[in-house]
Amino acid sequence: MKTIGLIGGMSWESTVTYYKIINNVVKEKLGGLHSAKILLYSVDFQEIEKYQSAGQWEKSGDLLAEVSVKLEKAGADFIVICTNTMHKVVPQISEKISIPIIHIAEATAEKLKENNIKTVALLGTKYTMKQDFYKEKLISVGIDVLIPDEDEIELVNNVIYNELCLGIISEKSKEEYLKIITRLSNKGAQGIILGCTEIGLLIKQEYTAIPLFDTTEIHAEKAAMYSINE
Ligand code: GLU
Repeated sequence: MKTIGLIGGMSWESTVTYYKIINNVVKEKLGGLHSAKILLYSVDFQEIEKYQSAGQWEKSGDLLAEVSVKLEKAGADFIVICTNTMHKVVPQISEKISIPIIHIAEATAEKLKENNIKTVALLGTKYTMKQDFYKEKLISVGIDVLIPDEDEIELVNNVIYNELCLGIISEKSKEEYLKIITRLSNKGAQGIILGCTEIGLLIKQEYTAIPLFDTTEIHAEKAAMYSINE
């Protein structure tokens, strides 16, 4: 079994979900008392967010690259970054290590292809929705990506940073998200990417008829399968 180098804490609310899913998949696949081999480095999210909001991506990339080097030295066979947004700095991290990184957007694109989704809507932080680093992974495999309107982007982003990353699950925010999901579905989306690792804490498949693609589930499952060579 390969050892997973998990970079968490962005936020730790979703890192808990990764830890559970990865162990559950390994248990289900291997049976008995099997559990995943994980090295977890959980960062201080305040530092990361400070760099994000100041547009200092290079500094945040340096920080995560340093963490990745430590994980590789400690024996990790591959890296899993438990956030969509920070995949923006994956190229910067890759330069510093010789082990692979399981890319969350590539894993999601694969899942969308398996499900024959041609047009998808993307919910996530404003960086993930508006910038190209994430969408290009989907577009490059022929998937059209819709994003919310400007005021909706603001709302989705604020709920992530002011509520979900602090463990606050609000009924009002759930209703607002579902309204946006319905509107994007009416605009032609065949599925919705929960492209922030905390959104699954707020929005569940049973709340809507449109297929949801929860990046935390997709990414954690992929990591678990890769660790057991499946
Ligand atoms: N966990 C979130 C994501 O998947 C947001 C936190 C962050 O900015 O890293 O993008």
